[in-house]
Amino acid sequence: MNLLIMGLPGAGKGTQGAKIVEKFGLIHISTGDMFRAAIANQTEMGLLAKSYIDKGELVPDEVTNGIVKERLSQKDIAERGFLLDGYPRTIEQAQALDAALSALEIQLDGVINIDVNPESLVERLSGRIIHKETGETFHKIFNPPAAGYDENDYYQREDDKPETVKRRLDVNISQGAPILEHYRKENLVTDIEGNQDIQDVFADIEKALSNLK
Ligand code: ADP
Ligand code: AMP
Repeated sequence: MNLLIMGLPGAGKGTQGAKIVEKFGLIHISTGDMFRAAIANQTEMGLLAKSYIDKGELVPDEVTNGIVKERLSQKDIAERGFLLDGYPRTIEQAQALDAALSALEIQLDGVINIDVNPESLVERLSGRIIHKETGETFHKIFNPPAAGYDENDYYQREDDKPETVKRRLDVNISQGAPILEHYRKENLVTDIEGNQDIQDVFADIEKALSNLK
């Protein structure tokens, strides 16, 4: 099964993505995670990406399309299937993805679109914490790690600070609509109500995916 998961920053793509790949054995490809890994490794591409990410802007299409195309070309993708998270984010990326998948003779099976009231996103992003060791995502209030956890074991993403969050939401709102339209025309999109508990969102996604399989 080959899937996209879409939604504004903070909608729950990473949280639900982790559950989906665990349940269905898919490969989780998150462009945001790939960029953060490149930044941590201080590669040339990481340094370039950082200059955009820190401002809440999108990394240029040619860079992003390149890393996704390279990952999709590896042989585990055809064997296990994938969940693409955070890509495509521009219509040009959607077109590049179509071309890459068609060249690889891989078919997209569905697009999960998590719909969340934009007002709740700032609260979600400002409370997001990430476990340093495993990279697992939590929320200080909505999805806290075990009771009595040590705050030092977690970090807040630089781009989750309020100044950057606003720009990220603006950029993603303006770019997102035409991409969804692109996939709606192909009848690939399932809209999921994201304004509910994490478990309930996942139950709805599971239901949608059981119809696809
Ligand atoms: P995205 O990958 O779409 O940016 P995340 O999965 O990282 O979003 O979720 C953003 C934040 O919101 C995280 O702190 C996460 O724990 C929290 N979160 C995710 N889903 C929900 C939900 N259904 N209700 C409340 N908080 C949520
Ligand atoms: P995310 O982890 O998906 O919230 O992404 C974090 C940041 O990485 C975004 O705000 C962008 O700056 C960058 N990024 C991630 N995915 C893409 C993409 N598909 N296109 C351009 N920039 C991206």
